[in-house]
Amino acid sequence: MLWSGWGDPAKAAELPAPVRRLLGEALGVREPAVPAATFGEVRLNASTLPPGVLTLLAAVVGADHVRSDDDARIRHTRGKSTPDLLLMRAGDGSDAPDAVVLPGSHQQVVEVLGVCAAHRVAVVPFGGGTSVVGGLVASRRGFAGVVALDLARLNRLVSADPVSMIAEMEPGLRAPQAEQLLAGHGLTLGHFPQSYEYATLGGFAAARSSGQASAGYGRFDDMVAGMTVATPRGTLDLGRAPRSAAGPDLRQVILGSEGAFGVITSLRLRVHRAPSLRVYEGWRFGGFAAGTAAMRRLAQEEAGPTVLRLSDETETMIGLAKPAELGASSESGCLMVAGYEGEPGDVAYRRERAAKALAEAGGVCLGPEPGEAWARGRYSAPYLRDSLLAAGATVETLETACFWSGLPRLYDAVRLALTGSLGSPLVMCHVSHVYATGASLYFTVVTAQAPDPLGQWAAAKRAASEAILRAGGTISHHHGVGRDHREAYAVEIGDLGGEILRGIKERLDPEGILNPGVLIP
Ligand SMILES: Cc1cc2nc3c(=O)[nH]c(=O)nc-3n(C[C@H](O)[C@H](O)[C@H](O)COP(=O)(O)OP(=O)(O)OC[C@H]3O[C@@H](n4cnc5c(N)ncnc54)[C@H](O)[C@@H]3O)c2cc1C
Repeated sequence: MLWSGWGDPAKAAELPAPVRRLLGEALGVREPAVPAATFGEVRLNASTLPPGVLTLLAAVVGADHVRSDDDARIRHTRGKSTPDLLLMRAGDGSDAPDAVVLPGSHQQVVEVLGVCAAHRVAVVPFGGGTSVVGGLVASRRGFAGVVALDLARLNRLVSADPVSMIAEMEPGLRAPQAEQLLAGHGLTLGHFPQSYEYATLGGFAAARSSGQASAGYGRFDDMVAGMTVATPRGTLDLGRAPRSAAGPDLRQVILGSEGAFGVITSLRLRVHRAPSLRVYEGWRFGGFAAGTAAMRRLAQEEAGPTVLRLSDETETMIGLAKPAELGASSESGCLMVAGYEGEPGDVAYRRERAAKALAEAGGVCLGPEPGEAWARGRYSAPYLRDSLLAAGATVETLETACFWSGLPRLYDAVRLALTGSLGSPLVMCHVSHVYATGASLYFTVVTAQAPDPLGQWAAAKRAASEAILRAGGTISHHHGVGRDHREAYAVEIGDLGGEILRGIKERLDPEGILNPGVLIP
C-alpha cells in the first residue's frame, strides 16, 4: 500500500490532459505550490514508549514482530481519508505510533493488552489501515506511548462448515485473501467494498462495513454469526446460534466498536455458495427521483438484484463522459447498475422480475455494457483520487442513510451544505445501498484546493454533518465514527447513549488504552 495514497503505486492513474484542462476551467484547480513530501521527508516525533516496554512486548510476540523503525511507523500512520492523505503529502507524521506489534494468536493479543494496560500504553488495532474516519488516530493524552496492533499475522481460514454455511476466519485476512481461501471450498463471503483490495475482515466487523453487493449478500455485520474478542479484562466469545432470545445480543456491542472495546481475534461468518454466473446491466431513468422510486420498489420486493446502485444526474454525466468529451453537455438522465449473482436459473428469475418492475417504473434497459464497465472500474476510483490531489483538487466522499420518505430532503440538504461551504464544487451522489425501509446516499465532492485544504474540507464536512443530522440522517451508513464523526455521533445517540458507551468502555477497558479518542463521545 502506498504510504501517502492508495494501493499499488504501479497502478497509479494518470489524469488525461482534457480532464486537467477542465478542472482548471470549470473548478479553478491549480497545481499546488509545494510538491508532495517524499518518504524520507516525513517528520516523525521521537518515541515516548518507556524503556523496557518493547522488550516486554517482544517477549510476548517475538522480537521479529515488534517494529519501531521509521518505515513501519509511517506505514501505520492514520488511515486513507483525504485529510489523512493531505497530511502525509505534507510530510506530517505526527500521528505515527511509537511501535508496531504483530501478534500471532488470540493469547498473544490478550498478553499484549496486559503489558500495555500495565504501562499505560494506548493500543490501536490495525487491520488494512483503510479507515476514512480517523479510526486509527489514538489520542496520546495521558498515555506513555501508542502502539499499533497490526493483525496481519492472524490470517487463517480456521474452518469451513458447509452444513451450517459458516466459516471461521481470522481478522487479519484481507478480503481478496479471504475470498481466495473460501473459493477453495466453493464458497464466497460476497463482501466487495471499494476498499476490497486492502481492507480486512476484522476492520469490516469493527467498522460495520457495507459492500457493493450488500443488496444481495447483506452488510458485513449481518454476516457475523459469532466472534472471539480479546479485551483488557479477558476474552468474550459471542454467538452460538443463528438467532437467540437469550438477552440482548452482545455481538452488536462489538460490531462497530472500532477497536475501543476489544480486539476481534476470530470471526464466524455466514458464507454463500460461490455464484456460477454474474450479470451486471445498466438502466437509465429520466431523473434521480424516478430512479430512487424504482429502487424502493425493488428493495421492497423479495428476490431483487445482488448489486443495485443509482447515480444522480451529475455523477451519471461525469461517469458516462469519455475524458476527451468531458465538458460537452450531455443530458444523460440517471444511470442505475443492477447486478445479479447466483446460479443461472435463479439469476434469470430475479433478473426478469426486476426488469419488469424497472421498466414499469420508467426505466430503459441499456444492456450489459454500462454494468460491465462499472464492474471493471469498481476499484479504480481511489487511484484517481491520488492524481486529483496531486493536480490541486480536493476530492473526498461522505455517506449517510435515512428512511425512504426522508431521502429527497437529505439529498438536497447535503448538496446545499457542500455548495454553501465550498463555493462551486462538483458534487456527485449515488444511492449506494438499499433496504425495504430506506437507503444510503454516497456523495463525492471535487473542488479546487484552497491554500489551507485541511481547513477548507473541515468546514465543508462540518456543514455537511450538521445538515445530515438536521435532515434526520445517520452520520454514517458504512464508514463508521472514528474521530471525525464523534461529535455528530454524540448528537445522534444523545447523552444517555453516550453514557452507556462510556460505561461499557469502563468495564471492558478500565485503563482506557484501546483506541482512546475514537468513537466514544
Ligand atoms: C478508497 C476507499 C474505499 C472505501 N470503500 C468502502 C466501502 O465501499 N464500504 C465500506 O464499508 N467502507 C469503505 N471504506 C472504508 C474502510 O475500508 C472500511 O471502514 C473498512 O471496514 C476498514 O477495514 P480495515 O481492515 O482497513 O480497518 P482499519 O482501517 O485498519 O480499522 C478500522 C477501525 O477498526 C478497528 N479495527 C481494525 N481491526 C480490528 C480488529 N480486529 N478488532 C477490533 N478493532 C479493529 C481500527 O482500530 C479502526 O478503528 C473505504 C475506504 C477507502 C479508503
